[in-house]
Amino acid sequence: MPLAPNSSVREIPNIGRARALEEIGIERVENLLWFFPYRYEDRRHPVRIDDLGHHLDQPVLLRGEVRTCGAKVSPVKRMRIFEAMLEDGSGAVMLVWFNQPYLADQIHRGDKLAVYGVPRLSHYRRLQIESPDWEAWNEEDEGAIVPIYSKIPNIAPRALRQMIANACEALPMIDDPLPPAMRAKLGVIDLAPALHEIHRPQELTPEFLRQRSPAHLRIILQEFFTFQLALRVRRASQEVKRKSRRIRVDDAMRAEVRRILPFKLTAAQRRVVKEIVDDLTSETPMYRLLQGDVGSGKTIVALIAAIIAIRNGHQVALLAPTEILVEQHYQRIRQLLGDSIVVAKATGSMSAGERRTLLGGLREGFIKLVVGTHALLEERVVFKSLGLAIVDEQHRFGVEQRQRLFAKADTPDILVMTATPIPRSLALAMYGDLELSVIDELPPGRIAVKTAVRASKDLDRVYQFIDDELDRGAQAYVVFPIIEESEKLNVKALTMGYEAMTQRFAKRRIAMLHGRMSAAEKEETMALFKSGELDMLVSTTVIEVGIDVPNASIMLIVDADRFGLSQLHQLRGRVGRGARKSYCILVSDAEKERLELFAKTVSGFDVAERDLELRGPGEFLGTKQSGVPRFRFGNIVRDHALMEKARDAAIETVNRDLAEADALARGLVGMAVVAAERD
Ligand code: ADP
Ligand code: MG
Repeated sequence: MPLAPNSSVREIPNIGRARALEEIGIERVENLLWFFPYRYEDRRHPVRIDDLGHHLDQPVLLRGEVRTCGAKVSPVKRMRIFEAMLEDGSGAVMLVWFNQPYLADQIHRGDKLAVYGVPRLSHYRRLQIESPDWEAWNEEDEGAIVPIYSKIPNIAPRALRQMIANACEALPMIDDPLPPAMRAKLGVIDLAPALHEIHRPQELTPEFLRQRSPAHLRIILQEFFTFQLALRVRRASQEVKRKSRRIRVDDAMRAEVRRILPFKLTAAQRRVVKEIVDDLTSETPMYRLLQGDVGSGKTIVALIAAIIAIRNGHQVALLAPTEILVEQHYQRIRQLLGDSIVVAKATGSMSAGERRTLLGGLREGFIKLVVGTHALLEERVVFKSLGLAIVDEQHRFGVEQRQRLFAKADTPDILVMTATPIPRSLALAMYGDLELSVIDELPPGRIAVKTAVRASKDLDRVYQFIDDELDRGAQAYVVFPIIEESEKLNVKALTMGYEAMTQRFAKRRIAMLHGRMSAAEKEETMALFKSGELDMLVSTTVIEVGIDVPNASIMLIVDADRFGLSQLHQLRGRVGRGARKSYCILVSDAEKERLELFAKTVSGFDVAERDLELRGPGEFLGTKQSGVPRFRFGNIVRDHALMEKARDAAIETVNRDLAEADALARGLVGMAVVAAERD
């Protein structure tokens, strides 16, 4: 029986260690066909051995005959080595393998070998090739372009290559999951030839090496389309499920909003409020990302949305990443709303009694608005009728965490907010289907923060400057590059920084702030700083998100090169919030260029684009948590035009027929996906 894509890998001729494949999830032939090489070696053009001197330290292909060979113990490293002298008519070179004594059974005098490795000069300035890849060779062999796969435990690279080559026999039988019309729409080639080309390329054209060949484009678009289609199908099914609930906005609500507003909304805020109200009052659930630079005034916009949802009989949850931020939101909201709406907060440090009251109030619907940290996500937090879920500083939460909140309601309206502007390409890749609102204007009266980069030898002058500003009534943040990873916080490093500051600024009132302090301590410290009873706050990045103290006008960042640009921008956003002229001072002896560039860049969007370029999407969004999907060849930054194409095709497919789109999405998602990690 011929090999089929859904055959077990055990049916591949000469399979050898099928178990080793199954152990990493490669059970069917198809899975193996989706296990892609991560690079290729062109082994068609052998180098003459007498020419090796010109190829030192670069991989070369040699062909020749074994003159002598044998095992011995290395005098230098006391290692077992196997040596073979290879000769090709022009000269001879020594091949050396370490700790592979079995080679004595495999390589013999007179064997013809094709060898691929890196020629180097040994200790004794002898030209040799260590641990080369080798293959028996006969005169008719043309050599080949060899695909290099990630290592799979317990399978030799050569054996793996052979298995996959054999699996390729099943390619003609592979079912293309994209129907012809869809292939035409996306402008891609068929799947079988694409997979064939990726495993056994004819030529290594520049296009192919850049992963932009027709074969690569086929894979990229299939993966993008799969992702977009799955998201769209999920959304569309939710909309169908959604109970008919209409939100209305009446004059009483408008009056209430006007009454609580402590200032005039900016034009950008008004526009965004309108976008949100349109969403809320429409039939489909809202799913909107609200971007606005630090200090652009997102909170009040969220609060207006909350009032509308609440006055329509729903509850609202606002999720924020830190207790300090929750406390701040809670205080400000209480201050604006007074007693007109029951507001509660949920944090990890609630007492048992507080927790009971909270849980009861949410379940019975007595509490209308809750502001909380991750504590909100616990299973026992149950709402009577959660209508609107808001996530502040959304990039601080993983996909899974956000979903946990959204799952507490039957298709709620969702508003996620961020001050780390996510470039459109990335937003599209991460969410596929959310709508974007942007507050692109700061409230009036803000003076741009002056940013300066200083070397550590200039610290005295910097301190003097800060002293003078404090004399004039300013307050300062001093941030040390101690990234808080919950448990692992290095308090000692911060304490040292704190002590240095208390010595230098002996007469000032200084406090420390970090994530390991209890909630009460943090609250108290922030309250003292806010009320002006502290001059200086020495802190880790806990103050990075959202903190709002208008009188603080100095942000000193120590070893600023240790931070990403977006993070620096967040930190800088802590100052320049009041009438005072504000300064952000970056102290660093490294990466001057990057920091100077940052100093010149005012807009958070520009900073984010630069940061994304410099660090790539994963790190940009904060590593694993970020929920950026992984694609084989697709790069969501570089290939955003393809992502948009895939999205348009997905929308069209879903609009045409949801059931068909659902079936197609299932087929695509079911397609073998084993991410090939680089070794
Ligand atoms: P962010 O978008 O960074 O979350 P906030 O919502 O914390 O910003 O707002 C920053 C500061 O600006 C707050 O002190 C807030 O009261 C103030 N603010 C917001 N909107 C306006 C406005 N239209 N006019 C004046 N001040 C505003
Ligand atoms: Mg905020």
